[in-house]
Amino acid sequence: MSSVRLADYRPAPYLLSRTDLTVRLYGDHALVEAQLRFAPNPAANEADGAGASGEPLWLAGIALTLESLQIDGLTLASEAYALESEGLMIKAPPAAPFVLQSRVRIEPHSNTTLEGLYVSGGLFTTQCEAEGFRRITFHPDRPDLLSRFRVRIEAEHSSCPVLLSNGNCIDSGPLDQGRHYAIWDDPFPKPSYLFALVAGVLEERRELFTTASGRSVQLRLHVEPGDLTYTEHAMASLRRAMRWDEQRYGLEYDLDEYNIVAVRHFNMGAMENKSLNIFNSKLVLADHEIATDEELERIESVIAHEYFHNWTGNRITCRDWFQLSLKEGLTVFRDQSFTSDLHGAAINRIENVSILRNTQFREDSGPTAHPVQPDAYQAIDNFYTTTIYEKGSEVIRMLHTLLGEETFMRGMTLYVSRHDGSAATCDDFVRAMEDAATLAWDEAQESSDSCRFDFAQFKRWYHQAGTPVLQIQRNWDGSCGELELHIRQHTPPTPGQPHKQAVVIPLVLGLVGQGGEPLPVQLEGEDPETAQEQDLPPSWGRRSRLLVIDQPEVQLRLCGLPKQHHPPALSLLRQFSAPIKLDLGRPVAELVHLLAHDSDPLARWDAGQLLLKRAVLARSQGQHDAQLEEELGDAFGRILNDPSLSQASKALLLSLPGQPELEDAAQQAGHKPDPPALFAAAQSLRQRLGQALATTLLQQLEACQTEWTQSWPHGQGDRRLSGLIWAWRSAAGDAAVIAQARAAVDGASMTLARYGLAALQHHDRPERQAASEAFYARWQHRPVILDSWFALEASAPFGDGLARVQRLLEHPRYDPNAPNSVRAVLGGLAGNAPVFHAADGNGYRFMARQIADLDGRNPITASRLAKVFSRWRSYGTERAAQMHSALSTLAQAELSANTGEVVQQCLAEDNHG
Ligand SMILES: [Zn+2]
Repeated sequence: MSSVRLADYRPAPYLLSRTDLTVRLYGDHALVEAQLRFAPNPAANEADGAGASGEPLWLAGIALTLESLQIDGLTLASEAYALESEGLMIKAPPAAPFVLQSRVRIEPHSNTTLEGLYVSGGLFTTQCEAEGFRRITFHPDRPDLLSRFRVRIEAEHSSCPVLLSNGNCIDSGPLDQGRHYAIWDDPFPKPSYLFALVAGVLEERRELFTTASGRSVQLRLHVEPGDLTYTEHAMASLRRAMRWDEQRYGLEYDLDEYNIVAVRHFNMGAMENKSLNIFNSKLVLADHEIATDEELERIESVIAHEYFHNWTGNRITCRDWFQLSLKEGLTVFRDQSFTSDLHGAAINRIENVSILRNTQFREDSGPTAHPVQPDAYQAIDNFYTTTIYEKGSEVIRMLHTLLGEETFMRGMTLYVSRHDGSAATCDDFVRAMEDAATLAWDEAQESSDSCRFDFAQFKRWYHQAGTPVLQIQRNWDGSCGELELHIRQHTPPTPGQPHKQAVVIPLVLGLVGQGGEPLPVQLEGEDPETAQEQDLPPSWGRRSRLLVIDQPEVQLRLCGLPKQHHPPALSLLRQFSAPIKLDLGRPVAELVHLLAHDSDPLARWDAGQLLLKRAVLARSQGQHDAQLEEELGDAFGRILNDPSLSQASKALLLSLPGQPELEDAAQQAGHKPDPPALFAAAQSLRQRLGQALATTLLQQLEACQTEWTQSWPHGQGDRRLSGLIWAWRSAAGDAAVIAQARAAVDGASMTLARYGLAALQHHDRPERQAASEAFYARWQHRPVILDSWFALEASAPFGDGLARVQRLLEHPRYDPNAPNSVRAVLGGLAGNAPVFHAADGNGYRFMARQIADLDGRNPITASRLAKVFSRWRSYGTERAAQMHSALSTLAQAELSANTGEVVQQCLAEDNHG
């Protein structure tokens, strides 16, 4: 398999000004006519130093049957072009502007890859990012070629009454034989990956939105008949997103129409095609009865994310796919800011950090680790990763932290004004930020330069893979109240990058005194007033200070602290100011103190997480630490009884770290992770805490219940805390709580129903069985909800797990062509530590067979799933051997480029996982 390299980027030899399509849809195929207006690209010829013309023209095309090919109205002789399996080469195109016309036949009905044009439940739909457009027609299909699209769609009226594409509908009408047409024109030039087309039977919710400048926009949300009642939340979310982008970024919507379509069969979450977003139906259809609080919030944020792309992604697009994080990292940062503005910054930040640690950190330390801006790939679809999205967003967030809101926004304005209507690079974005920073720094000549940094060095965040580690040593001199910090940074090697350089790390820290009071952070040589001026705004936690760590080793002395025997507690990485790991020995007492008093919500939560990890780790090795658990129980008791804390904060502070984080903690402590043992240890710790805190937990549960009926976003903290208490008390065998959790499945709140199921999930009790059956009986006709039942059953950690998963795969309501169902069952199995990681290796072999089978239908979904094997080297010898053998079997199957690349990375010798 061949690689595409960033270093090989060349401008396209021919510019494309227009893409005119006629798409005729039929009951068993489709015909696509394309008219492409090309002209030789002067920039390309300059770059090559070659003459004006004569360069061949490559048109990508996969699974197309060519019926005719013309240039300027003349049919091309067969020797004038070469037809290959992945496209065709026009050998000697004209030296002057020309029109290329083609007609192809395609088979959307049998297209299970869900790329290009395909049929989902009778609906014609498209997915073109990253390289799906070449499955619709012959086209250069590269993101740096922006052209104006006009699309004529023809179809049978009865089966496809609704015909949609990008832009504005400029004409429509009847045709012979019960057919009709619609013509869509998009005035904004766009790359082919943003093309979309939808045709079928749909119902719509229609509303008007008035933009800040007073223009009227028609918002249309299209769903399958019968689903209209579940669209109110998505529509309200869209309105909030549009308003927010006007208010925070000054960015307004630019067309007369904005369409969203919900589709059952979809590989991803959603797609930001210009003015015609296509969504996985699970991210549209929702209300409190059919969706959980978490799902409602996720829908709101994904609707916002796709909308925000209209500027960061569509108006300014990516020059090539190595720049994917230019649009994704930035847009994730924007959607995270949106959610925290609406629902509270502290909780949103903790949730996002938790996701980052459980997914991206894991990726960053395994064989598929790659930089935010990779320099080579085989299948671009494999790079829609948490590194590109979530770490990419963290890189933008660090710029925001280092520059401050005002300068960051000046940089954004500069970026938009420079690159609107074009294809840009990550470098262009950083350059806009650098120019804004230079202006700001020049203006503020007098002020301290402690936050200045080198942008060239900052860019290493884009090019180096791996999670940097800050190793910190402390020396406390109680007699003069001085704390010395010795800080060393290093980034572990990753595949292809054995040696790393120092990065720019914004480290936000605070000091907490013995009585819990915040202490000033005063550097050596500073007077107390100067130090105070450096304090960050109070949203960071009181008396927070930003330090820039950009050298491999730094020595700092913090002065003016109380002269006493014990050092103040060190609150580090407040709000998780950089995507890094910390390595410093912290005594239990210090962490307990921070858990009780840290004014920064994230650092406070993190102190609790560290204590919980220690407790779980000890239990997993059969040496439970009674004293630690008692201190933890006492601290949690005080948190539960603290009236100043919201119920949502209490639930977060008490939540156990996820399984990937536990495995990582085991590794950091120098052990080979044993997933079933860690899983069992976490459950037994819940049982222990559930017993120890019985009275307090039940009092809190009672208090929460009065808020259960409030609808989202109200009452969600109470429901969340109830779910946690149900899980802990069920683990402790509380019959009354078990009955309450069971009853929730029949209630009016999906959130409580799912918390009830989750609380009962770990034990093979009759109540669990009854709850599962009741849930199935109630929701069996709603595929989106039934997927959560599939996931739950596949992750039940008892009995013959593989036999259960096999039955699910043969279940009459299981749809092997719906990625949501596949992910529910096989993803559920991968997260089921006792079954997937069973010592006999059967879980691994089962999974490998399923991936090989799935790969034949849907390579994108299969290759993502194949990453469940990426950690095999981190486990003990026998488990690693079993996993390796399953992987080797998979490697021998006939695999797609997508899955082949992942399997090959996992098996490669130079991997440091
Ligand atoms: Zn996106």
